[in-house]
Amino acid sequence: MPETDVDVIVVGAGPTGLMLATELCLAGARPLVLERRPELRDTPKAGGLGGQILELLRYRGLLERLRAVSDAPHPAPRFPFGGVQVDLTRLAAPPLHAIGLPQPRLERFLDEHACESGVEIRRGRVLTAASQDVDLVTARVQGPDGPEHVTARYLVGCDGSRSTVRDLTGIAFPGTTYPEVNRLARVTLPDSVRSFANGDVEIPGVGRIGVGFTRTERGTFGFGGVTAGVMFATTVEEESVEYDDDEPMTLTEFQQSVHRVLGADLPMGEAFRLSRWQFQARQADRYRDGRILLAGDAAHLLPATGAALNLGMLDAVNLAWKLAADIRGGAPSGLLDTYETERRYAGERALLQTRAQVALRRGTDPAAEALREVVQELLADDQPARRLGALIAGADLRYPSSDPHPLTGTFVTDLTLQTGQGTTSVAALLHRARPILLVLADRADLREAAAGWLDRVDIRTAGTEQRPTDALLIRPDGHIAWAA
Ligand SMILES: Cc1cc2nc3c(=O)[nH]c(=O)nc-3n(C[C@H](O)[C@H](O)[C@H](O)COP(=O)(O)OP(=O)(O)OC[C@H]3O[C@@H](n4cnc5c(N)ncnc54)[C@H](O)[C@@H]3O)c2cc1C
Repeated sequence: MPETDVDVIVVGAGPTGLMLATELCLAGARPLVLERRPELRDTPKAGGLGGQILELLRYRGLLERLRAVSDAPHPAPRFPFGGVQVDLTRLAAPPLHAIGLPQPRLERFLDEHACESGVEIRRGRVLTAASQDVDLVTARVQGPDGPEHVTARYLVGCDGSRSTVRDLTGIAFPGTTYPEVNRLARVTLPDSVRSFANGDVEIPGVGRIGVGFTRTERGTFGFGGVTAGVMFATTVEEESVEYDDDEPMTLTEFQQSVHRVLGADLPMGEAFRLSRWQFQARQADRYRDGRILLAGDAAHLLPATGAALNLGMLDAVNLAWKLAADIRGGAPSGLLDTYETERRYAGERALLQTRAQVALRRGTDPAAEALREVVQELLADDQPARRLGALIAGADLRYPSSDPHPLTGTFVTDLTLQTGQGTTSVAALLHRARPILLVLADRADLREAAAGWLDRVDIRTAGTEQRPTDALLIRPDGHIAWAA
């Protein structure tokens, strides 16, 4: 095998690329991140992070550290599922939690953690071409001092929705772009806009309108009340323009959108947050072309908010240990191929629930109203609300497996464990992202099986009050590879 500059080139220092590079370091590989932007992002995108990625971050010991820059994980009191509000706070052990964390702050956190873990990030570098042969990949990069080239065993495109890597490999990205453009702003309101105790506001030229969504012939205006003179407002309009996510929205653009929808001006003062997004439902035909792979928005786009970061960052966690095992040698044959099968399946599940949201929110006729009402009624019961919460979080994800044991493929529960060295937990064992054979019963056949795996996995024998089964082989990404 020829020498390469690094093991893995990660293109893009967004949340997916930074997560991938850090996990690669944990698994003992040498990544290099190439990022087009010279500085960290400061334009708003996602406002929070939710779903199963929070459990994974907890299992890595990072959720506690995130608390320095975010609030505590909480279930959503009014998760906006299409046009339907789902209250998850009333469930015991809710399956979906989220934290409020603006994306620039998340990226700064991930960047710092990646650097602490030993990741090299080169900013101001644009990937322009990539070629591969049976042994290595060569990336051509435009840097501040001119063209450069870097060689690696693998290259992963974490370069977002307009992925250059995807284009260079000719991987198709079929799907739908919906014509609706969403705009969101947190703005102060001047005294000329009267607000009432129940949250209503009186807009000059429009009259009194209530909290929630106001549909007009030209679009939808929504707001969630006015607190201390500040309003969180959104508009949704049908437009045929394709905007670039990285091109920031101005306050004037938002004011003009409100004017088009309501037919009158809503006076606004200062803006604290402004963002615009369009919805697409797309999934890459393939996640891999030889030594080049895709992850995050480069591989999928979802037509509803709240799930994309979860999906992309978990792509990274799934891929890192498999790439590292392949590079080290001795990985089971076909291990790297399971990245595509497992994460395409996860992407399909996320598309399933977000496309369902499109059907719920886009209908304007009485039949659509009836559908929203029926779904709202069903979600008043705990069991459907729990099922839906788990689907949105990805907590119900069970990777396809030939092993019929019901736990195989699922995400391992955090058990409290009694060991010879004291009390610990599954979460604590996964901090180092090592594969673990957890033996929970005193069985001679399990001891024998474990002896054969000593060189590849950490073996832990423990007792637990809530023993789910006798033994679990836990992968670095927290999913169960085998159970007995
Ligand atoms: C307004 C808005 C609100 C959103 N809200 C939410 C939300 O509430 N919850 C949620 O989960 N998701 C939300 N999203 C989606 C979320 O922001 C994306 O899913 C997320 O950014 C994807 O991360 P990524 O790392 O895969 O890609 P990106 O964040 O797009 O990162 C890709 C990186 O690659 C770099 N790059 C691109 N091309 C090259 C190249 N040729 N060479 C080198 N570098 C390159 C880019 O500069 C960028 O830094 C929102 C998006 C928008 C626009």
